[in-house]
Amino acid sequence: MGQDLGYVDFYGYICKKRTEEMKFCGLTMAALLLFSGSLNARIKMELTKRHEALVAIAANEAKGDLVALRREINNAFDAGLTVSEQKEALSQLYAYTGFPRSLNALGVLQQVVGERQTAGLKTEVGREADALPADYDALRQGTEVQTRLTGAPFNYEFASQTDYYLKAHLFGDIFARNNLSFAEREMVTVAAISALKGCEPQLRAHVSGARHMGVTDAQLHEIPAALHRHAGEAEAVRCQQAVAAVFGEPCDAVEPLDFVWPKGEPNPYGKYFTGRSYLAPMEAEKGGPTNVTFEPGCRNNWHVHHGQVQVLVCVAGRGWYQEWGKPAVEMTPGKVVAVPAEVKHWHGAARDSWFQHLTYHTNVQPGASNEWLEPVDDEAYHSVEK
Ligand code: MN
Repeated sequence: MGQDLGYVDFYGYICKKRTEEMKFCGLTMAALLLFSGSLNARIKMELTKRHEALVAIAANEAKGDLVALRREINNAFDAGLTVSEQKEALSQLYAYTGFPRSLNALGVLQQVVGERQTAGLKTEVGREADALPADYDALRQGTEVQTRLTGAPFNYEFASQTDYYLKAHLFGDIFARNNLSFAEREMVTVAAISALKGCEPQLRAHVSGARHMGVTDAQLHEIPAALHRHAGEAEAVRCQQAVAAVFGEPCDAVEPLDFVWPKGEPNPYGKYFTGRSYLAPMEAEKGGPTNVTFEPGCRNNWHVHHGQVQVLVCVAGRGWYQEWGKPAVEMTPGKVVAVPAEVKHWHGAARDSWFQHLTYHTNVQPGASNEWLEPVDDEAYHSVEK
């Protein structure tokens, strides 16, 4: 593995290597735990209330949910975090979420501090970071810190300016401030990246890096639940998937849909579906559409609409539509399919995503009906995404 590999690729390699090591360790540990319940207590070091508060403010900073952030900053003071520590976490995050998110969050912190002081609530200022020595060499020190985080020396030659920013500024200037520990900084980073959709490779890299920085395996496994309590299910699932990937553990958690459209009730036609689905009629009795929600992997049987055209409008998630003998068509929000009358077909979710489509019928002829046929077997279904 050479120095010419990209940042993400390099981290990916580290993750894979660690994952392979952990498969063996995980099995050994599982076997040991069967014989010794007390071992579990000894190796476990849980997230403290302070850690959980750091996770909560970091995730909501990254999400840009300033209302939740205000609530979590107040909770963080109650949990014992100081102004200095919260300021440090929210400042560090500019390197991961950008100045817009970081400055907005610092603005909320400043307001809350003012309000709490006026109200006489506990608002501990805390210890400022120690001044750095006059001869402090940010590039040299940052290179050491980065090497520890990644587990091996790393030079990002493809983008040498970014290599410098990472070493001298992020890991040199920022990580040198000693009012947060390295482990706390990585908890903050993991929580924040969990709230950034589409950053999964970096999230896995930081779950791996967190272990090198002193976050315990037990703590890492508890962060998803803390995210669920304080940020949301999507944030929790992204973290859970990354932790599972790094530790080589199975994970069937799937990111939830943003249920903007109604989900409705369990589908009364469920016997014609593989997996769970839900129907939400939307003024259907007056001719409006019905919203159909499919869980990941759920699809309906092959079927035919006689004497009517069925219109499908994907509104959320990702799924498939397939006519007999033809390749499947991917459906993402905005995709519309008009299913011709008398054509055998199926529709349903992708394996790894929830799926919602509106449906209604047009060109309805007298005596129109639906004819349900055989299920879409696993082989046919799995072949659509190969
Ligand atoms: Mn249909």
